[in-house]
Amino acid sequence: MNFDVAIIGGGPAGITAAIYGARAGKSVALFEGNALGGTLNEIDFIENYPGFVGAGKDLAKLMFEQLQKFNCAIIKKFVQSVVKVRDKFFVTAGSDVYFAKTVIYCGGYKRNTFGFAKDYEGKGVSYCATCDGNFYRDKIVALVGFGYDAEEEAKFLHGLCKKIFLVSKLPLAVAGEKFERYEGGALVGIEGADRLERILVETADKKQVALEVDGLFIAMGGSANSVLPDLKQEGMLETVDGKTAVEGLFVAGDIDAGLPKQVVVACASGARTAMSAIKLLNHKNQPINNLTANK
Ligand SMILES: Cc1cc2nc3c(=O)[nH]c(=O)nc-3n(C[C@H](O)[C@H](O)[C@H](O)COP(=O)(O)OP(=O)(O)OC[C@H]3O[C@@H](n4cnc5c(N)ncnc54)[C@H](O)[C@@H]3O)c2cc1C
Repeated sequence: MNFDVAIIGGGPAGITAAIYGARAGKSVALFEGNALGGTLNEIDFIENYPGFVGAGKDLAKLMFEQLQKFNCAIIKKFVQSVVKVRDKFFVTAGSDVYFAKTVIYCGGYKRNTFGFAKDYEGKGVSYCATCDGNFYRDKIVALVGFGYDAEEEAKFLHGLCKKIFLVSKLPLAVAGEKFERYEGGALVGIEGADRLERILVETADKKQVALEVDGLFIAMGGSANSVLPDLKQEGMLETVDGKTAVEGLFVAGDIDAGLPKQVVVACASGARTAMSAIKLLNHKNQPINNLTANK
């Protein structure tokens, strides 16, 4: 099967790209190996997407219903590889190969975490201060992590929360009277009946302490969900407005290293890359001597 645009990943970025592509009259295939809506389905409560407040899965449903109004092939398969040969992309999913003139990769991002934190996601455990910090205004939280991202999260939380326990192997370069530091420490457990109530930290001198907290933020990096070798690394592929060095290959949403990991940003980048793909397709469809032909 041949498509003008193959979109890999049916999260907010992919769904938006598909809506833009289909409405521009292009033949569009959207590949999704899991649940349509992507990471939206993991968001317990979202209140920073304009026009919607509620469970992420309900926003996913609305986005998907909107997409279904347009002509887009939804292929519920995991894409194993994308290869470009001359002007054509070969997209392999299951035992089938699909052909596309352009590809928009919207595979999302996998955050590093602790196995024992999974049960508390949406119940006190968060990976994003911009998303969830507001829920912990004037409350006590802990931040576990390292590096630049953890430092930015710490500063963000300092502006909102009453107290922040910082648990990090190496010192975080942040200052503030609300921070209490457990440098050289490690998070070793989480306790709480229906939701997180306290965290267990092993301190630098190997003592275990329990810290009563309302929330826990984890900032330990992650990696792109990608089958493209260049996109697998932390840092991912730097793009210029979603365009990669390969003509016709675009990336959108969380997978783009240069973008904040937010639903509204993912939608915007899905729209932007779809418009770039449409432009490229329209340009290629023009007769070479189009100026003369139009006379
Ligand atoms: C717990 C949590 C809470 C969050 N809360 C908020 C919030 O309150 N507000 C906010 O703005 N943002 C929030 N975010 C971030 C937000 O979810 C992401 O920024 C957004 O979903 C990114 O959209 P995306 O389309 O780029 O990727 P995703 O939503 O991750 O979608 C990627 C999709 O691609 C699919 N896929 C990947 N590889 C393949 C493949 N090879 N073949 C086929 N399909 C593939 C995946 O199955 C997935 O469905 C939260 C994130 C998490 C984890």
